[in-house]
Amino acid sequence: MFDIDKIRAEFPILKRKVNGKQLVYFDNAATSQTPQIVIDAIVDYYSNYNANIHRGVHTLSQEATDKYEESRLKIQKHFNASKSHEIIFTSGTTHSINIVATGFSSLLKKGDEVIVSALEHHSNIVPWQMLCERTGAILKVIPMNEEGALVMSEYDNLLSDKTKIVFVNHVSNALGTVNPIKEIIDKAHKVGAAVLIDGAQACPHIKPDVQELDADFYVASAHKIYGPTGVGILYGKEEWLNKLPPYQGGGEMIKEVTFEKTTYAGLPHKFEAGTPNICGGIAFGTAIDYANNIGFETIANREDELLKYGTKKLLEIDGLKIYGTSEEKTAVISFNIDGIHPYDIGTIIDKLGIAVRTGHHCAQPIMDFYKIPGTIRASFSFYNTFEEIDLFINAVKKAQLMLQ
Ligand SMILES: *Cc1c(COP(=O)(O)O)cnc(C)c1O
Repeated sequence: MFDIDKIRAEFPILKRKVNGKQLVYFDNAATSQTPQIVIDAIVDYYSNYNANIHRGVHTLSQEATDKYEESRLKIQKHFNASKSHEIIFTSGTTHSINIVATGFSSLLKKGDEVIVSALEHHSNIVPWQMLCERTGAILKVIPMNEEGALVMSEYDNLLSDKTKIVFVNHVSNALGTVNPIKEIIDKAHKVGAAVLIDGAQACPHIKPDVQELDADFYVASAHKIYGPTGVGILYGKEEWLNKLPPYQGGGEMIKEVTFEKTTYAGLPHKFEAGTPNICGGIAFGTAIDYANNIGFETIANREDELLKYGTKKLLEIDGLKIYGTSEEKTAVISFNIDGIHPYDIGTIIDKLGIAVRTGHHCAQPIMDFYKIPGTIRASFSFYNTFEEIDLFINAVKKAQLMLQ
């Protein structure tokens, strides 16, 4: 059974006071909180076996290497990748996308087309724009509708034999919309295009199966899945990872170096130049274990209840509008109140201990679509409570009274 008190006790930060009030953390879509077991894994690494990996013959280096590779296997299993070397450790989603977008420079020519969606995070827009500038490829955009869902009939019109790669997020960080990625992938494959799925916002709630999805690339960040910052993954099908050139040169990614010519190491090391975030990689594996022990169905059900409750309560507030009302969404509520700037509400409720995000959420095209400067975004995680939502609603009402 889901024991919320036991779960909350596992997250030390949830006991914190902010501005003299009990912290209510509703900024989970920006970064999730970290359970003690993950913090312990970090402390254990630095206390007991901190050493560089894949190089030393000494015991500490062996232990660190074993734990790091064990973590890769956990992550492989979690995403159901068919091979462990299809999991590349990166510094996070942004790094992962840049590896692929930069690599595609050598595969595209002038006039080729790449397709993005209107719902993307800047990190899944800008690297592709840079790719288009370098190659002369053309960027096309799947539009969105008022509900914050993609207009799939327009996607059909954009696809052609000129399409080389499609990149969309699994879940929108700004609105919470869950995109029909299986359909997007299948249709792209029919015209021979590859697909990259930005799973940064999906992975805290959904356990993706990359083989079932038939995704060519799938990327995520540990810090949104109860793990540490500065580490993430790039999943790529072996055939694609072999086709892409390395992203960075350096140690670890080579087979042989002479001043005449260097040959590259095989996967995954070809994309893992330099000393990685060893501790982060190991703790990522611990976080994945933690979430699987709770169970992704349990997590999703709990968050859905919080979403329904929060939505109902917010809509009782006069002049409040929610952006992103698609049927399929995660526990993200983006909203504004008539005549009040989102930043002002964010500032006042912070004084009451409540952490939400205000602004464009790294997704300016979505804000442009709605013709707004930004929103207030409350994003829930399974460790949040209905009582916290009540505190949040009261705080928003208080801010509204002060500002109107
Ligand atoms: C957070 C996020 C990113 C960026 O992740 P980083 O960890 O900052 O690299 C990209 N896309 C989506 C959908 C996100 O939510």
